[in-house]
Amino acid sequence: MTSDCLFCKIISGDIPATIRYEDDRVIAFDDIDPKAPCHFLIIPKKHIATALDLTPEDNELIGHIYQVAGKIARDSGFADAGYRVVNNCNKAGGQVVWHLHFHLLGGRNMTWPPG
Ligand code: AMP
Ligand code: ZN
Repeated sequence: MTSDCLFCKIISGDIPATIRYEDDRVIAFDDIDPKAPCHFLIIPKKHIATALDLTPEDNELIGHIYQVAGKIARDSGFADAGYRVVNNCNKAGGQVVWHLHFHLLGGRNMTWPPG
């Protein structure tokens, strides 16, 4: 828990969010400004600022996050149609919240390249 971190405050319940999935390592909740009909954020409960701060001890955690993304996609009904998982890293990558998170986007056709 980092006291000035928005997503740590969502994990602790100090800031409300619509939680879609939770286990001992991660939570997933609705993005407040959705960019697709389904837009969830999947985050580790451990405070990690960016993807650049990952260490080998986090390898299993990241695999777990992708499996959680697949479970949410199946449960939400857009797994077979297809979906996108995105991590924005640092400013030029579009990151604005400094707690590692993976966007799970579904419910529409995605375009490529992203903006
Ligand atoms: P990024 O640009 O990758 O750092 O993504 C940060 C995401 O957090 C954006 O998609 C925001 O809409 C989302 N966001 C910011 N504040 C909240 C909040 N209080 N609850 C849910 N999502 C949020
Ligand atoms: Zn945090």
